[in-house]
Amino acid sequence: MALQGIRNCVKNNVRVGLRFTINKYNFRDIAGIFDLIAGEGIERACFYHLVYSGRGASMASTDLSPSQARKVMDLIFSRCRKLSAGSAVRSGAASNTEILTVDNHADGVYLYLRLKQKDPRRAEAALSLLKVNGGNKSGIGIANIDHLGFVHADQFWGHYSFGNVRERRFSEIWMDESDPLLKSLRNRLPLLKGKCGRCNFKDLCGGNFRVRAEAAHQDTWQEDPACYLTEEEITSR
Ligand code: SF4
Repeated sequence: MALQGIRNCVKNNVRVGLRFTINKYNFRDIAGIFDLIAGEGIERACFYHLVYSGRGASMASTDLSPSQARKVMDLIFSRCRKLSAGSAVRSGAASNTEILTVDNHADGVYLYLRLKQKDPRRAEAALSLLKVNGGNKSGIGIANIDHLGFVHADQFWGHYSFGNVRERRFSEIWMDESDPLLKSLRNRLPLLKGKCGRCNFKDLCGGNFRVRAEAAHQDTWQEDPACYLTEEEITSR
């Protein structure tokens, strides 16, 4: 029935996007998802990495290993190329399909490193875009206001609030850097420890998800456990 719903939407020009969170039980299905995208004319798909805070805390053990995460990213990169090439053959234009990977900013660095080996010109273009983007923006360009009005650095920081919009205006809460977490998230790069502290790509990744580091190490500034890049890669720049 879900598939029929997708087909009905595509047929009636309603934009369709698929989303799911990758874990060790479903990562083998990603190739099949790409077949579905190509076969059904779906224009967008988002593949989420697991962020194990809040309700996700009990799911940490279902996350991919670093080698599985790399294989998944390699597969996504190659299937994106295939999707684009297939569309160019059919219509003479590159595919309009948007493929997003979400919640792991190491993906951008990995994409850059892969392009550097295979297509240096595009690697430079990707590098410029990644520099502009700056990686994780929780507490900087991203905020979350929950259903009770509490303001968080993003939707994964439900256990820590900067204030409530029923008591103070959002603009006041957001500009008030007397909160130590808010201030630190905005000045995070020198605070990073472990692998993230040693990494030469901090400016592209932004230290990834601090809430995931906190969940794994009980230390907000420790390395993000979901980074699958090797020591050689993070120091290669
Ligand atoms: S080591 Fe940390 S800062 Fe560097 S790419 Fe990985 S998650 Fe990002």
